[in-house]
Amino acid sequence: MLIVQKFGGSSVADAERVMNVAGIVTRAYREGNEVVVVVSAQGDTTDDLIAKAKEINPRGSKREMDMLMAAGEQISIALLAMAIETLGCPVISLLGWQAGFQTNSTYSAARIKTVNSERIRAELDRKKIVIVAGFQGLNKYDDVTTLGRGGSDTSAVAIAASMRADLCQIYTDVEGVYTADPRKIPAAQKLDEITYDEMLELATLGAQVLNNRSVEMAKKYGIELEVLSSMKNVPGTKVKEVTKMEKMLIKSVAKDTNIARVTIVGLPDEPGIAFKVFARVAQAHVNVDIILQSVGRDGTKDITFTVDADAGERTVAALKELCENVGAKSVTYDTDVAKVSVVGAGMETHEGVAARMFEALSDKTINIHNISTSEIKISILINKEDADRAVAAVHAVFFEN
Ligand code: ADP
Ligand code: ASP
Ligand code: MG
Repeated sequence: MLIVQKFGGSSVADAERVMNVAGIVTRAYREGNEVVVVVSAQGDTTDDLIAKAKEINPRGSKREMDMLMAAGEQISIALLAMAIETLGCPVISLLGWQAGFQTNSTYSAARIKTVNSERIRAELDRKKIVIVAGFQGLNKYDDVTTLGRGGSDTSAVAIAASMRADLCQIYTDVEGVYTADPRKIPAAQKLDEITYDEMLELATLGAQVLNNRSVEMAKKYGIELEVLSSMKNVPGTKVKEVTKMEKMLIKSVAKDTNIARVTIVGLPDEPGIAFKVFARVAQAHVNVDIILQSVGRDGTKDITFTVDADAGERTVAALKELCENVGAKSVTYDTDVAKVSVVGAGMETHEGVAARMFEALSDKTINIHNISTSEIKISILINKEDADRAVAAVHAVFFEN
């Protein structure tokens, strides 16, 4: 079998953990498999590198940020390869470009265009374990790019897709995908399986256990993922097209505190105004999430919407001129909000999910600002300070009785 194994930062945080990973990898190799391993930077290395950059230049260019951040993974691949050498298996480490990762040129959020896996294939044919640096690639100018935070998951799935691997295992610091973040909610339960669509929603709504692009790609190429622990040898969670757990109404609760709320007060209440606002926002390459428009009164209306936290300032700047031209009173943003969501394909065929969720919040006197729904999720916007209590209350009503 051809197996792709991915190990996240905490799984390779120190020498002992690196040796532990080497043990998992060599076991799979000695069982007769071809093994390609993707690793992230050790522990908090990526955060530490970003902090170092901020000390020198808080607005360093994204190209140089990528040059810096990609260094973290280079350390991990070499250390893991050396650990595997001590266990007596043939091994080679490769940077993203050596492993054939071609990306577009959106520095710090690059998209993988292709993975030319010839080199990996050749090394496997030489009976080597191949270790690949996650999170990085090369653009058409031969510059190093990175894939966005958490991007090593996507590197692993991209290799699995390109090489038609039999198995793609995502090893991490929890035992799988849970009904809520198990580090925050001790009563959270591990799921045996979850569909691509549910996992994609969850990942997008703040559950960092898998990067959302990795799930998107796994769905597109039909790569079954297994999320499992690098510390404890127990079955994890399978991410696949169809699951047998349809009777489960809700699969998981997620929280996202990394958002900003943009508020425009006093827009003229006339046709085309929403178009003008969101066309500007799109021009600034900002992704918009929950939108709320007030009812018009005295010829004016307000529009509120959410964006990623780091896009708040940029969005307001992009809207300043338009707002002045149309005579709006103000355009501002704040980050005192959080989004709490429930996800599950079961809610498509069962009524009452929203009512139960809102009752749980009402019992804790948590005020809901906005609501947005799709077939398989309900998201609410609340004050950031209420977020943890809200997740606990919602988890309790669906999973703890
Ligand atoms: P890695 O370094 O292995 O990539 P991450 O820190 O990116 O790991 O993701 C794993 C973390 O995701 C867990 O430690 C956990 O706190 C968090 N998490 C959030 N929501 C969930 C969930 N529903 N199930 C499992 N883990 C979750
Ligand atoms: N090291 C990168 C990050 O911290 C990539 C990853 O962990 O997947 O975001
Ligand atoms: Mg991760």
